[in-house]
Amino acid sequence: MKPRIGFFDFTGCEGCQLTVLNLEEEFLELLELVEIVEFREVMSGAAESLDIAFVEGSICRPQEVERLKAIRARSKTLVALGACADTAGVNALGHFRDLQQMRREIYGGDAPQLLTEPPRPLQAWVQVDHRVPGCPIDGREFLAVLQALLMGRPPELPSYSLCVECKLAELPCTFERDQVCLGPVTRAGCKALCIEAGDRCRGCRGVIDNPRSDPYYRILEEHGLCAEDILQELRTFNVLGKGKQCASK
Ligand code: SF4
Ligand code: SF4
Repeated sequence: MKPRIGFFDFTGCEGCQLTVLNLEEEFLELLELVEIVEFREVMSGAAESLDIAFVEGSICRPQEVERLKAIRARSKTLVALGACADTAGVNALGHFRDLQQMRREIYGGDAPQLLTEPPRPLQAWVQVDHRVPGCPIDGREFLAVLQALLMGRPPELPSYSLCVECKLAELPCTFERDQVCLGPVTRAGCKALCIEAGDRCRGCRGVIDNPRSDPYYRILEEHGLCAEDILQELRTFNVLGKGKQCASK
């Protein structure tokens, strides 16, 4: 019997699930290896049990907590799919805003049932076994994580910082423009996509396991920047967890 996998979404833009669907040919090949038993974006129906649940989005309501716990209970393995699920992503900016005002801005009126708590990542409520980071995820990395799980081994994410990939690609450093880049503390794996496009890294893949803050602060100071500049940047994708660690000297 093929492994049974499912895709689930909570609060988010659903871009990570779309990235999976955009794999097109590889997605069709995937269907030869696994049975997709639940995936609201492409099919109806629900499964009683799953081997792997890929879960996108952050958790903002008590009803979502209950639904997430039920998914966890019927899944052997649960993978956080994308930044919103992994770190609460940009949704975590809600921790700095008044919820009532946010509801008015987002939904055009006070809709208390739609957003009742500051957004949190999946791991705040259930055990998360593995993660696919990024906003959105990288389709190839999703396939690599799934392949590892199907082969019965733990998926490995890069443990080094984005600067390694950026230097290997010989891209010009953002700091040369005296702008903050989160590359020194951000997990590699995207091939420095944003820097190649002329932008800077805003940390969508999350903070590496052992960020070294001291050398980072020295670089900042050399370029006339300060801790508050990093804090502002970290607020985009890393409000919670290790983001706090990097921002406190
Ligand atoms: S700081 Fe940013 S731009 Fe500079 S090397 Fe690191 S990732 Fe690249
Ligand atoms: S460069 Fe940074 S912000 Fe851009 S995709 Fe990579 S990790 Fe995300």
